[in-house]
Amino acid sequence: MANILIVDDSKISRRVLRDMLERNGHTVVGEATNGQEGFDDYGKLNPDLVTMDITMPVMDGIEGLKLIHKAYPDAKVIMITAAGQNEKLKEAVESGAVEFITKPLVEETVITAIAKVLK
Ligand SMILES: [Mg+2]
Repeated sequence: MANILIVDDSKISRRVLRDMLERNGHTVVGEATNGQEGFDDYGKLNPDLVTMDITMPVMDGIEGLKLIHKAYPDAKVIMITAAGQNEKLKEAVESGAVEFITKPLVEETVITAIAKVLK
């Protein structure tokens, strides 16, 4: 079971994800709404894992991932992606993302991806 930081600008997506994670025994230690906030919270909360949305205002998930990965090379960041973001996926892989989950979020897929990353 893991301490997880959720980074997503959508309040509904954060709620859906939090419910899935908590139902499966994980602890959500924080919620951030853009890449910069995610980076700041990562430093404060030191989570085991981050779920990072890609499209967010102020600073998107790719830039947030880059900041986190640069400062904390061992950070485990799972990208939450939408259809049609192939270019972004490539950039995320190159920037150190450990796994991908595609929206709409399916509980079994989310939990399996997290288990794989924690192993
Ligand atoms: Mg978004």
